[in-house]
Amino acid sequence: MGTFNKLNMTKGNINVSVENIFPLIKKFLYSDHEIFLRELISNATDATLKLKHLTSIGEAAVEYGNPQIEVKIDKEGKKLHIIDQGIGMTAEEIEKYINQIAFSGAEEFLDKYKDAGKDSGIIGHFGLGFYSAFMVAEKVELISKSYKEGTEAARWTCDGSPEFTLEPAEKSERGTEIILHIAEDSTEFLEESKIRELLTKYNKFMPVPIKFGTKEVNDPDHKPETVKDKDGKETTEPQKKITVDHIINNPNPAWTKQPTELEDKDYNAFYRELYPMQFEEPLFHIHLNVDYPFNLTGILYFPKMTGDLNMQKDKIQLYQNQVFVTDNVEGIVPEFLTMLRGVIDSPDIPLNVSRSYLQADGNVKKISSYITRKVADKLKSLFNENRADFEKKWNDIKIVIEYGMLSEDKFYDKADAFALYPTVDGKYYTYQELFDKIKDTQTDKDGKLVILYASNEDAQHSYTEAAKAKGYEVLLLDSPIVSHLMQKMESSKENITFARVDADHIDNLIKKDDTKISKLTDEQQKELDAILKEAIPSEKFMVQLEAMDSDASPFIITQPEFMRRMKEMQATGGGGMFGMGNMPEMYNLVVNTNSELVGEILSTKTKKKQERLISQSLDLARLSQGLLKGKELSEFIKRSYEMIK
Ligand code: ADP
Repeated sequence: MGTFNKLNMTKGNINVSVENIFPLIKKFLYSDHEIFLRELISNATDATLKLKHLTSIGEAAVEYGNPQIEVKIDKEGKKLHIIDQGIGMTAEEIEKYINQIAFSGAEEFLDKYKDAGKDSGIIGHFGLGFYSAFMVAEKVELISKSYKEGTEAARWTCDGSPEFTLEPAEKSERGTEIILHIAEDSTEFLEESKIRELLTKYNKFMPVPIKFGTKEVNDPDHKPETVKDKDGKETTEPQKKITVDHIINNPNPAWTKQPTELEDKDYNAFYRELYPMQFEEPLFHIHLNVDYPFNLTGILYFPKMTGDLNMQKDKIQLYQNQVFVTDNVEGIVPEFLTMLRGVIDSPDIPLNVSRSYLQADGNVKKISSYITRKVADKLKSLFNENRADFEKKWNDIKIVIEYGMLSEDKFYDKADAFALYPTVDGKYYTYQELFDKIKDTQTDKDGKLVILYASNEDAQHSYTEAAKAKGYEVLLLDSPIVSHLMQKMESSKENITFARVDADHIDNLIKKDDTKISKLTDEQQKELDAILKEAIPSEKFMVQLEAMDSDASPFIITQPEFMRRMKEMQATGGGGMFGMGNMPEMYNLVVNTNSELVGEILSTKTKKKQERLISQSLDLARLSQGLLKGKELSEFIKRSYEMIK
């Protein structure tokens, strides 16, 4: 190429190594055509910020002023304009940056994309650059004037073939204007609503103001006057309106500021900006801010959680230097934190790579563990600063914390400082506090610490009461993944076990040395066992005779901890080491041989009365486990009425 100092009309061919990449560009990620706008606005932003930098270090002898980027639709002419006031390019620079660098960049990108295959995930979110314009345009014009003194403006055009033209142009203002001649199949990009949607999606927080059209606002200099007409009626003159540029973005979003500049209300206002349709306030926020060994800023919010783990995902937005990239942060943020909301902005996340590569990337791993640590630290300080408030929020955040404890060992270790174990009486213990509280009372004869819990206060009420009567603490652990967590704690902490209060009779759950003496002789026990087994179907209940306090219930239905927990774990994923999918529920029937009623069952002479005592007692026991339903429940009620008649 010759020199462009005095530019004449030039024609040339872009140096293509791939036969013709334009059709490829056009086909590229069909659904992602819309990213062209983000790419072009990113270029315009870069060009503007470069000028800002140059003026700030005294390298550019121009006034920086208040540059903006304008996006303009020319529906008639089927054109879309993107105009910036940045550094601009000379004809030589256009030849270099657009014909050579940008083009080979696009080529390289497409090459990579071809290799990465279909399920590449994040690839395609970044990197195609200037040539992405050809996804929607049949012809692209670029008119540019450099900030450098004494340079001429130049116009570059290309119609989607490797041929381009470069010629002098009329442009008095510094900067670059890109004119897309929108292709027939892409006319949606001439719709104002479509462009507005894209600008809000990708450019809402970009650092240079973006103008899209104008809007009417109240004239701040005009105070409408109220005048009395001749009848004494007051009328107020109409408010004068003025037309101003419609700026679609907030160039200084909260996460780009220092935490010290922001108050809670600013964080909440930013949450609203991110999620305009979200009416609930976030519970708290975490401001991320590192510059070594990688750059990352952002704000994460803990929203109020519901029990549904899947509903919550895909709310964190990933930005790169204030340009929206994706709201799928899988692989970058540890999975348990994908339930949070907010933004992460990092130029150090490689985005034009596949997800599996991303997950293996050292930087990304560091980012992920940094975020985990920050979240743990924040939770710890919230807990320490205002424990009462933290307890109040526990129910809404526990699912994230429990999930994190399960899935990230580092988080698990740190969580001891803030993870709470609530009791059915509304107290909240840390693990250490709980341990200190119960270690003397709830250690069994073998030295194992038994942590009792209920998963449903109402359903397990009588069992809870029995445990409390012994002076034991009963936790209320009711989140869907807590059985997995208990499993993990049992294997990582010294000699502890969790037992749901209805897993057995309380004296069996925490076995002490003082074994009760049965009032019945061995003979009598055998006889009782036979009577019960005859009356109670063995496939429903395993009968188990126990000598307990005489005032404890005669019949108690229990559900062994191990089997039940395995089933629960299977239901919430994982833990399915035994194929228990179709296992029926398993229950034991604990019969208190020391109770008066059981004595009566044994001593009664009439078979009929014996059967009635057994079935009534069994039904009462089932009732307290919530197991008496339907026809059996109706029959029980009918029989009970007859008995009190
Ligand atoms: P990238 O932005 O990743 O460098 P692009 O293909 O988008 O790749 O652009 C290639 C080059 O063209 C840019 O690096 C820049 O030098 C130049 N360029 C593109 N758009 C503009 C613009 N609006 N103003 C000034 N220079 C631009």
